[in-house]
Amino acid sequence: MKILSVNAGSSSLKFQLYEMPEEKVLISGLMERIGIGDSFYTIKINGQKIKKTQELNNHEEAFEALVKELEGNHVVDSLDEIKGIGHRVVQGGDYFNKTEVVTDDVLSKIEELSSLAPLHNPAAVTGIKAAKEVFPNALQTVVFDTAFHQTMPKENYLYALPYSWYTDYKIRRYGAHGTSHKYVAQRANEILGRTDTKLITCHIGNGASISAIVNGKCVNTSMGLTPNAGLIMGTRCGDIDASIIPYIMEKTNMSPKEVDNVINKQSGLLAISKKSSDSRDIEDGIANGDENCILAQKMYVRRITDYIAKYYVEMKGCDAIIFTAGVGENSVDTRRDIINELSVLGVELDSDANNVRGKERLITTPSSSIKCYIIPTDEELMIAKDTYELAK
Ligand code: ADP
Repeated sequence: MKILSVNAGSSSLKFQLYEMPEEKVLISGLMERIGIGDSFYTIKINGQKIKKTQELNNHEEAFEALVKELEGNHVVDSLDEIKGIGHRVVQGGDYFNKTEVVTDDVLSKIEELSSLAPLHNPAAVTGIKAAKEVFPNALQTVVFDTAFHQTMPKENYLYALPYSWYTDYKIRRYGAHGTSHKYVAQRANEILGRTDTKLITCHIGNGASISAIVNGKCVNTSMGLTPNAGLIMGTRCGDIDASIIPYIMEKTNMSPKEVDNVINKQSGLLAISKKSSDSRDIEDGIANGDENCILAQKMYVRRITDYIAKYYVEMKGCDAIIFTAGVGENSVDTRRDIINELSVLGVELDSDANNVRGKERLITTPSSSIKCYIIPTDEELMIAKDTYELAK
């Protein structure tokens, strides 16, 4: 059965078409600059990467270009072969704890939650509506980044703020990257050969979050109401003293929007290193003795180990720590720095095993108290799997 996995941004469309349940990728691609001029797209098929320039005025035209590629490359004989289309949605609030089939009610709830994800939810709705027009016979599903975190207990998702802020404005911890945390946790359980596990999953990329997962269910996660909570990220500050915000607004006359821009786009690794938001540049800086980069990396690693320590205590132990996403999969040095900080817990790095990028691997010694693994994430496959289950 052919299943399409879709991630629509406001001006982009990322897709992968799978043959399920074999999990074989038939074609994948990314369409960019949709509706803003100079559009283009790249597709990957049969090991070849092809770039094409074509004006795409809206997401419907993007899907139509996709159809042309599917037919032109003989990936499908008829569009009806595609039985399901799974859409990534960033914010599902507390309405959705699992992947759902798209209905009018589901769509209106996603639209209602736009105030919590103003850049992402409206784009997903646009993508879903366009896909419905172009693939009227496929089952449409929505896979939420927040759904996996809905199993958190109330003491972990509530903020110590007036309760009416929760009831009236839905202010609580929702988390993010749920599809990725779920994927690597399932894979870790497969590797460990059991499901009664305590896992700490570290999704560290440009955006970053850590989850505590007991018996396959999320019990805590570091992102909050928005994706600017918890860890220090490329350009986001993560956890800070909340009173800094009104204080700096009074001091500088910045508007809420301006402060929001600073804490989301001009903070994190970029602010401390004064150089870059990218871990590769920080590593180069450290190699050249750059004091700001050294400090940025110390702060970055400290925040991660703070969360690991917190979840270790909360779960009363841990069977495995998983590293995934851009930094987690590729930064040999960051993984080394984190694991060395955990030596007090008896965690022991295997330096040779750790010297790898983007490969699934155990990176601790046989005598390590906690096993640490690199597990490359695959959110698109997770979306396809969920959609396949609903479509079959
Ligand atoms: P996003 O959150 O945008 O999906 P990714 O998970 O793709 O981000 O992570 C991107 C980040 O991964 C880059 O900004 C960079 O910091 C880091 N990264 C990628 N490759 C490497 C590498 N070889 N060494 C160190 N860091 C890397």
